[in-house]
Order: sequence, then structure tokens, then C-alpha cells
Amino acid sequence: MRYVQVDTQSDPKSIASPSTEKQKNLSNILVEELLAMGISDAHADEFGYVYATIPSNTDKKVPVICFCSHVDTAPDCSGTGVKPVLHEKYDGKDIVLPDDTTQVLSVQEFVYLKEHIGDSIITASGTTLLGADDKAGVAEIMDMANFLMTHPEVKHGTIRILFTPDEEIGKGTEKIDMNKLAAAFGYTLDGGELGDLEDETFSADAATITVHGVIAHPGYAKGHLVNALKIAGEILAALPKKEFSPETTKKRKGFVHPVRVEGLAEKATIEFIVRHFSREGLQANAKRLQKIAEKVLHKHPKAKMEFAVTEQYRNMKEVLDKHPFVVEYAKEAYKRSNLKVHRKSIRGGTDGSRLSFMGLPCPNLFTGMQSIHSKKEWIGVRDMKKAVEVMVNLVQVWENHSLIK
Ligand SMILES: [Zn+2]
Repeated sequence: MRYVQVDTQSDPKSIASPSTEKQKNLSNILVEELLAMGISDAHADEFGYVYATIPSNTDKKVPVICFCSHVDTAPDCSGTGVKPVLHEKYDGKDIVLPDDTTQVLSVQEFVYLKEHIGDSIITASGTTLLGADDKAGVAEIMDMANFLMTHPEVKHGTIRILFTPDEEIGKGTEKIDMNKLAAAFGYTLDGGELGDLEDETFSADAATITVHGVIAHPGYAKGHLVNALKIAGEILAALPKKEFSPETTKKRKGFVHPVRVEGLAEKATIEFIVRHFSREGLQANAKRLQKIAEKVLHKHPKAKMEFAVTEQYRNMKEVLDKHPFVVEYAKEAYKRSNLKVHRKSIRGGTDGSRLSFMGLPCPNLFTGMQSIHSKKEWIGVRDMKKAVEVMVNLVQVWENHSLIK
């Protein structure tokens, strides 16, 4: 509840690192608290990344594992003046947020609230998001660190803590010093419901269609002018209406999605994002988009088209499948915490998907956060405690499976 009161909203329009200087305010608080726990190498760098190490206390040779979460909150909803509200012994009734009484949390809208009846939940006050995404992850990692530093009888290898800025604007991994981090495997704490374990993300490409028309003075254009804007419009109109789009797909189905149109009568470009869980599916989706566009171009023989695909990110499962024990150990830690594992796929990318391809295989663990990026964001205290328990069990699973040096 202290961390969410620090405004750490990131800004997609900024080119600075971090995108907003205020994110460092939380980074600095975290460093102070880590130092106070006796974690002596804790520091924040010029970009607002926090690095800290809990030293190994075992004779075994355990790979260095990293726990990571992000300090920034989403630009979608105000993060200024967050006033967290603790609702103790939640009774299952509607929760009217005090600063805007039109903001109401009900079990009809959020069925998961039912699981928290009798327990404490935290909400915002009605005018801002809560920032559980991802200060829940931050708080849980801090609590895990504090627990391990005060319980030397719990055996573990070297544990690296990493807090990143700018995850919400897709730049969370941009300035990570992988040499300094020097971890073998990682876990992001940035997931939702109790028991969720995410080891899969979309694979993602961007596709650009450039249409070249034929320009002429409009007064004397009969028979020559070919308007690129109109062809771009035809291509958009030719996209399937009942499938192949984000608004008509869920679960494991991919899509293409136009995100920007720009142009003049002479030349127009349409930018798309292309998504699928497999590389083959991704390629097939791009190919299908190209065919749709080519078919339109066929009707306009004097126009030309270019089709370009650029890579954005890849499904982390490709990396994790090469190191299956990273997910297996997490599952074992969930079981030791008496949790059922819900393996899930993320219809998007995470810092973990980028980290996995940067050499740090990195699935995503639950934090409890719900209804993120909105004024109705909330979290159950039970789930937060369980996330800490899972991490404490997880470091022991790694130790248990390791050999004497
Ligand atoms: Zn997040």
C-alpha cells in the first residue's frame, strides 16, 4: 500500500530512459529498504533499474535465479495520488469506491471476488488505478527478500532481484545489463489469479503494406489516376469480418490487426500487427494477409504493392521447452504451497518473453492482481501472501535439486 502511493506512470511518448523520472522515486525507496534488510549490493542505476543479490547460504551448487517485476504503472489510467483502500474481512457485497461512487466492484462483474469473502482485499479509491500491476509483484519480491534475510535456516542459492521501469510501454528490458544480472534462470512476478503459471506468449511480427498509386492532375486524370488511398481502403475492407482479428478471436487463435493507416493519393501504407502462438502460424497469418492484399491489387494493374514483415518478439515457450525444469520447479513450488497449477498462455508479450530470448528463460508467476489498468483494479491479500510462499518454496526446490559443489 506504500508503494502504490508513489506515482510511477510510464510515458510512451518519452524517449528518455526511464521514460518518466518519477519512476526512480520508487526504485530509490526499494534500494533503501533492501539495504536495511542487509542486502548490501542493492543499488539503482541511472535508468532506474534496481539490482540486488541475496547471497547463497548452501554448500550446494545452485544456478543463480532472478525474480523480476516492474515499478511502472500503465499510461491508460491515472497513477497520480493513488489512495489504496484496505477492505478487511470482505463481506461479498458491492464495494463503492469512496472518491467516485459510480465506480463499483461487484461479484457479478468480478466473479473471482467471491473467493476472497472473509479475507482482505485492496482497491483504489475511485479516481486512479491501484497499480497492483506490478507493485504487487514488487511487494511480494520485497517480502520474499525480507523473509529469506531473516530466516537463514531456509536454504537457497544466489538470488538476484531485478526491478525494471517502463514495462508498460514495452521497454522494460531495454537497458538491462545482462552481465551484471548474471542469472541463469528467471521468474517474472506479473501474473494474475492464484495458481496461474504462464510459460507461453504470442509470437509477434509487424507487417507493412505500401501501396503505390499513379498520380495525375485530377482535372485530366481520366484513365490514368490510380488512388493509393482507395486501394488501402479496399484492402482493409477485404479483411475477414468473422475471424482473423483480435475482436473475433480468443484462446489459441492468432490474428492480424491494422494499427495505423497513413498516406496520400500517390502512396499509402497500412501497418499491421500479426500474432500467433507458433512460428508457422505466424508465417501463415502474414502470408494470408499478403494474399488478401495481392488479390485487391490484381484489380488495379497499374498500382504496385510492397509487403514487408519485421520481427517483434517470439513465444517464450520456444526457449522454456529447452529448459523444462524452470517451469517444472515452479510447478513443484506451487504444489508445496498447496496450489493447483493453472498453466496459461499470454495473448501478448511480457518482459519474460524478451528476457527468455536474451538468455534468461523466464516464465511468469501469479501475483493476484485483477482488473488491471483500470480504476476498478483490486487484489486479494491472500493471493499476495501465497505468491511470497511460492517464491520461498521455489528457491528451496532449486536448492533441493542441486548437487554438492
Ligand atoms: Zn505488468
